[in-house]
Amino acid sequence: MSGLQKRARKNLKVSVSEGIGFCSGVRRAIKIALAAAGRTKETVFTLGPLIHNPQVVEKLRQVGVVPISRLTRKGGTLVIRSHGVSPEVFARAERKGYKIIDATCPFVRKAQERARRLHEMGYQVVIVGEKTHPEVKGIRSHVEGRSFVAENVDQVKRLNFASRVGIIAQTTVPLDNFSAIVAEVAKRAREVLVFNTICIETALRQERARRLASKVDVLLVVGGRNSANTSRLERLCRTICQRTHHIETAREIDGRWFKQGEKVGIVAGASTPRWLVDEVAQKLTEL
Ligand code: SF4
Repeated sequence: MSGLQKRARKNLKVSVSEGIGFCSGVRRAIKIALAAAGRTKETVFTLGPLIHNPQVVEKLRQVGVVPISRLTRKGGTLVIRSHGVSPEVFARAERKGYKIIDATCPFVRKAQERARRLHEMGYQVVIVGEKTHPEVKGIRSHVEGRSFVAENVDQVKRLNFASRVGIIAQTTVPLDNFSAIVAEVAKRAREVLVFNTICIETALRQERARRLASKVDVLLVVGGRNSANTSRLERLCRTICQRTHHIETAREIDGRWFKQGEKVGIVAGASTPRWLVDEVAQKLTEL
């Protein structure tokens, strides 16, 4: 469904953002994990949930793709999720006898390679992103020695940098945040080399969400509460549309959020399947 459409009862006009559904990295990881599960009768493991969406992780569990939090088992098939991991984790999994299938997203791999290259070239590496996110941890592990993670521009304002600084981004950070940090670091270092490693799909998704948020009365952001890119999308949209709500499924919709005849937009994170968005859109028609 796309475009503004008239609805019964509350007569909501529902608009779904373009390009909704899994991003290519998530699609690829799921395809790889399902193919691995199809080749064996044994359980296929993922280190952490394959994607940050509880509903999809549950469906995967039912076909034998199961998340583990640590490499405690001896052997089996292990799928590395799209966020990637450190070389140490790869080595540990190998030592434990796992058959490793790497589903690291190509965009994330590029960010890891850029970080390593910057370090080898003698730049102090600054990563714009969330320190505790698995993707950032993985990227950092490719930089021997010191790297700095900045989530917002305030965190770099009082810092002293090396004379040569290389900057890359977690693949899902908003471009304006990345640009603001780059501009601030540029005031404090003699030489700055910047690689914009934000994935193009994220940038597009955020741009479309921003556009839709500016046209509606209420905005629903659909996706896992443990999904960093969904939460970021919510924060971004809330700055434009104050009546933004983050929900995981249609069951969480509260009819009191909407008034007669209002315009309602739906956006979703990169790890949110299309069917969850369709259920949300359907529920709005029943209000
Ligand atoms: S959001 Fe971009 S970088 Fe992240 S998994 Fe999807 S395609 Fe890859």
